[in-house]
Amino acid sequence: MLPFAVPWGVTARVAGRPDGTVRVSSAQRPGREVTVPLEELRPGTPDGWASYAAGVLWALRRAGHPVGGVSIRLDSDLPEGAGLSSSAALECAVAAALDDLWALGLTRVELARVAQRAENDFAGAPTGILDQSAAMLARAGHAVLIDTRDLASTLVPFDLAAAGLRLLIADTGVAHEHRTGGYRARREECERAARALGVPVLGDAPPGARTGDPVLDRRIRHVRTENARVRETVDLLAGGRVRAIGPLLTASHASLRDDYEVSWPEADLAVERALAAGALGARMVGGGFGGSVIALVEEAASTTVRTSVEAAFKAEGHGAPRFLSATPAPGAHRLNEGR
Ligand code: ADP
Ligand code: MG
Repeated sequence: MLPFAVPWGVTARVAGRPDGTVRVSSAQRPGREVTVPLEELRPGTPDGWASYAAGVLWALRRAGHPVGGVSIRLDSDLPEGAGLSSSAALECAVAAALDDLWALGLTRVELARVAQRAENDFAGAPTGILDQSAAMLARAGHAVLIDTRDLASTLVPFDLAAAGLRLLIADTGVAHEHRTGGYRARREECERAARALGVPVLGDAPPGARTGDPVLDRRIRHVRTENARVRETVDLLAGGRVRAIGPLLTASHASLRDDYEVSWPEADLAVERALAAGALGARMVGGGFGGSVIALVEEAASTTVRTSVEAAFKAEGHGAPRFLSATPAPGAHRLNEGR
């Protein structure tokens, strides 16, 4: 996988508490502070938004780390539920801050795994480790090539600002839900396909491998072709050919739409209109069934692409999309304010 970080995120301010409780508050949830004794943390307690933060405490504790009572204050300028990984940003901010507070000395990869456990086993969303490893390993001006098996990572230059390019992000306004529904179903299909082929993960399937089940075979084809596109993209970026990755982004969207079947009508429309208006490439991001689309655009063409997508949404009777413009930014980092 080849993620990068966006220049927005979740901030976690942490302070130890002598009373053995976890207290979570969020500027995005005013007046809804949640307090739970450490001893009572278990999946479901607390539930909802606070579970993403409390789950990190729980995962650290379960891994045998010496954790104590703590106040966690969250604030964010990252849209929630928009496929931009606010859940992972939140978990990783909390994990990095607690690592710092208690001098746990965990590596970035270990922190990503703790954050994933919080999301999977505590918050109950069966997601992979893409979002958390991106948040922990990304660097400004780079994408990061990550091997899902061991989270070994290599930075790949992806300096859009220097190239006069931007990623235009269109939040389609369609909400997704990873704990249920299509996301979970895709995961189960991939596991079924891997079992049928006798491989641990689909990425290990030999070329041309088939199960005979047309649906599973489409899922396999998506994984195989997506891995090939990642390799091709890395080669182009390493060679300084940023603009040339556009068609690969678009091919990725087509594969997500037709073979993996996780795209949604508003995403297809945004991709199609962005390309027609001059984007170099465009695709959905996130786990599918809602969230955002990214389009690689010349800085100068950004407004045209945006206006065109906006007009198409209006014409089709969809709610107005929300736009953001990004270049690859640093992952989780410490803010020294207040010290
Ligand atoms: P995504 O990761 O694409 O943004 P998710 O559904 O995985 O979408 O995560 C969104 C959830 O994360 C929100 O519904 C909320 O529970 C939690 N969350 C994210 N940011 C915040 C925040 N600033 N304050 C409180 N909860 C948050
Ligand atoms: Mg998420």
